[in-house]
Parts: sequence; C-alpha cells; structure tokens
Amino acid sequence: MDTVSLTGKELAAAINADTGARAAALAANGPAPRLALVVATDDPASAWYVNSLRKAAERLGIACDRIDLGAEASAETIRAELAARSADPAVDAIMLQTPLPDGVTLDDVSSSIAADKDVDGVSPLSLGLLAAGRTGFVPATSEAVVELLKHHRIPLVGKHVAVVGRSNVVGKPLAQLLLAENATVTVAHSRTADLAAVTSVADVVVAAAGRIGLVTGAHVGEGAVVVDVGTNEDADGKIVGDVEADSVRGRASGLSPVPGGVGPVTTALLMRHVVVAAERARAV
Ligand code: NAP
Repeated sequence: MDTVSLTGKELAAAINADTGARAAALAANGPAPRLALVVATDDPASAWYVNSLRKAAERLGIACDRIDLGAEASAETIRAELAARSADPAVDAIMLQTPLPDGVTLDDVSSSIAADKDVDGVSPLSLGLLAAGRTGFVPATSEAVVELLKHHRIPLVGKHVAVVGRSNVVGKPLAQLLLAENATVTVAHSRTADLAAVTSVADVVVAAAGRIGLVTGAHVGEGAVVVDVGTNEDADGKIVGDVEADSVRGRASGLSPVPGGVGPVTTALLMRHVVVAAERARAV
C-alpha cells in the first residue's frame, strides 16, 4: 500500500499567512503582540523547540522574550515569574516550556498563568474549559493533530482513534478534541497491557509517548492513518518521532513525518493563539 506523507508545512504556511497579517494589523495600531517564553530546563530537545519558536515569532512580527530561570529553578520561582508576566499588561501571551526542573510538575506551577494569556492551554482552568466543551486556549500540539488530520481530509466522525500517551499537554487534551469531533477514542499509556492489541484495531493511531520507535508496523492495522507527535533526540542528536517509519510505511495509508508533520502546525497554532490573545486584550 502507498503511504501518503501527512506533511504539515502547507497547512502551517496558510495559518502563518493569516497570523502575520493579523500581527501587522495590531502593530499598526499599537505595540506588536508579545509572547513571554519561560524556560527552566537545559534539555537539548527543548532548546531546539524554544529556538524554533523564537524564530517563528520573529518572522511573524511577534515580539518574543525568553526568560531563562535555569534548570535548578524552584516551583516558587517559576510561579512568581508566571504571576509577574500574567500581571504585566505589556505581555499578551505566556508559554512555559517543559520539561520542568526535577521535582517540579506542571501542576505545581501552571495555575499561575492567567487563563487569557495561557496560549498553550496548560492551566487547570484552560484544561477544565476544554473538558467541559467551553472556549479557552487549547494545547497547541493537540489542536495541531486534529487540524493536520482535517487538512488531509482524514475522516474522524465515528472513527476509532487510539492515542498513545495521556499527558496533560498532549494525550488527554487530544482525546477531548477528538471526542468533540465525534471520534471514538481509546487512550493508551505505559501501563496498557497490550499496546499493539489496542492500536492495531484503530482507524487512526496517534503516537505521543516520547519513546523512539515505540509504534511499529505491528502496532498498525492495514490502511490505518498514523500521526507521529514524538519529538525525541536520538543518539546522533537527530530529532526523531515515536514511530518506526520503515515498518509502518507500506502498511499505513498515511503517516506524518518528523520533522515536518505535527511540529510546524503546532508552532503555527501557538503563534495564532498569541495574536488572538493580543486581539482580545486590545479590544477590551
Ligand atoms: P510525557 O509527559 O512524558 O507523557 C508521555 C506519555 O506517554 C505518558 O502518558 C506515558 O504513560 C506514555 N508512555 C510512555 N511510555 C509508553 C509506552 N511504552 N507505552 C505506552 N505509553 C507510554 O510526554 P508529552 O509531553 O506528552 O510528549 C509526548 C511526545 O510528544 C514527546 O516526544 C514530546 O517531545 C512530543 N511533543 C511534541 C510536540 C510537537 O509539537 N510536535 C509538542 C509537545 C510534545 P504514563 O502516563 O503511564 O507515564
């Protein structure tokens, strides 16, 4: 079977064209939209992602401040920084990069991000609004998976989607978004007894576990669609996904590449959220 490459570049370019125009309109009437990127890690994959976010913001006319708190920062320091940026009227949007320092969880700090600036939808309020089907900012990676599938005209209504991963930033919000699209959703995780048994009967498999090569051809039914969210650094320093592409190609009808699949759409949606936050703030 031919496996179509579900690239995200075209979709990201279309989103970026709209975002860039909206950012320019805001800048014509006041300050450019401003994103505060709070970083408390020295993880190399994170550094790569943060750098790509800064470049994307720059290209779109969005001001981006990187606030580096260091990999030893305490929960209290991170909370104080997030609260200060939340209260700062010059900041439209806040994003907290993960992973966090050892011993600090997203739960410990995310409620210090004001909901109207929480462009990656990580605070308990944003996640609660999503679970309740109400409007808030949705985690960009989860939204990117759904948008990528829609862009490639992959049907979701009534389809069985297996999501591998249940984090608050990807797996769980993605399950909520897929339910809202009327898919039937199974969420697998590290304690799932037989992962292949769950994923091989799904119409769509989304790999979001952060484990190189976890999803192989044996995990995928003939003709299924596979979306690879994984962004992992391999032994050679290359960014690779969670899917063993060689064994999945030829079995799946579609597979998103890493890089070039979910990643560019995530970045584009995050930047769109920044502009939306700025538009809402200026309209008040
Ligand atoms: P995470 O917080 O580490 O969560 C990983 C999830 O995968 C957990 O729910 C874990 O299960 C599950 N898991 C781990 N090993 C497993 C296994 N062997 N079998 C089944 N499930 C397993 O990671 P995350 O933040 O959700 O990120 C997931 C991946 O997406 C990472 O590679 C990350 O870099 C990538 N990511 C990509 C983008 C993008 O834009 N492309 C954005 C964000 C994240 P338990 O809950 O049982 O521990």
